Amino acid sequence: MSHPRIDLHTHSALSDGTQTPTELVYAAREAGLDVVAITDHDTTAGWGEAQAAADRADLALVRGLEVSTSHHGGAVHLLAYLPDPTHPGLVAELGRIVGGRGSRVPAMLDALRSAGIDLSAADVATDGVPGRPHVADAMVRAGYVASRDAAFDDWLAEGRPGYVGRYAADLVTMIGLVAAAGGVSVVAHPWGRGGRAALPPDQLALLAGHGLVGVEVDHQDHVAPDVREELRGVVRDLDLVATGSSDHHGLGKSGHPLGVHTTALEEWERLLDAARGAAESSGRSTPSAPALRL
Ligand code: AMP
Ligand code: ZN
Ligand code: FE
Ligand code: FE
Repeated sequence: MSHPRIDLHTHSALSDGTQTPTELVYAAREAGLDVVAITDHDTTAGWGEAQAAADRADLALVRGLEVSTSHHGGAVHLLAYLPDPTHPGLVAELGRIVGGRGSRVPAMLDALRSAGIDLSAADVATDGVPGRPHVADAMVRAGYVASRDAAFDDWLAEGRPGYVGRYAADLVTMIGLVAAAGGVSVVAHPWGRGGRAALPPDQLALLAGHGLVGVEVDHQDHVAPDVREELRGVVRDLDLVATGSSDHHGLGKSGHPLGVHTTALEEWERLLDAARGAAESSGRSTPSAPALRL
């Protein structure tokens, strides 16, 4: 296995994907992946089921999550790999984020109702962490819009009538918490939908000084290849790890099939080294890194 296929960013139905963790793991194997990370938004609830499935499927699973953070007022998604999920500071902060997601739902439904879109709490109910995609899917089911994308574009994106803000963790604080919990932090799609305003190169340098380990370079939201190449150069100069991944959401997001982007073996090994170091210096009991038979 000299060129293992490594996908470090996927979602299950415990956030806004459409597959159970078990289905996600088996789909990853079907897609020919050797390593897959489960990174639901703001929750580790899928880890147990995903690990049991990965053991059966003989696939290397990385236990991770994608944390909602904010930096100088801009939204930043932070991938956290292999932290101790019982670290009290991390648990408290994730609880606050998930609580904010929960209380946002009725506020969104009120805002939409004022704009003539009538949905009930039951229409948007989920077993997982609620988000705008669940509201978007309910709008599709009720016939208000044709797709999740259309729901975002017309109603749910920032500045649209159904948009409601919510609590996000401070980015620098969260990088510190992830390290204290024995995990490693990688900024997700930094130059994606929101453009590069939130994280220009000097801010990535600042984050590197605060313990950021890597940056997701190869991602579908970095649409132009020259964006990826410029970002790869910045990441290389800062001696950070460059990852690539699908950000797969099952049927919930088109254009993000498993393995559409992958992480190079050398970068994966650097990430694992950093994770080993973080686990050791934190003194926490962290999830074991998956063994990859080469
Ligand atoms: P939330 O976490 O509730 O604020 O919703 C953000 C999630 O919605 C992210 O995981 C994105 O994958 C997804 N999302 C954001 N914008 C769009 C869009 N235009 N079309 C479809 N999904 C989107
Ligand atoms: Zn998502
Ligand atoms: Fe994201
Ligand atoms: Fe994601």
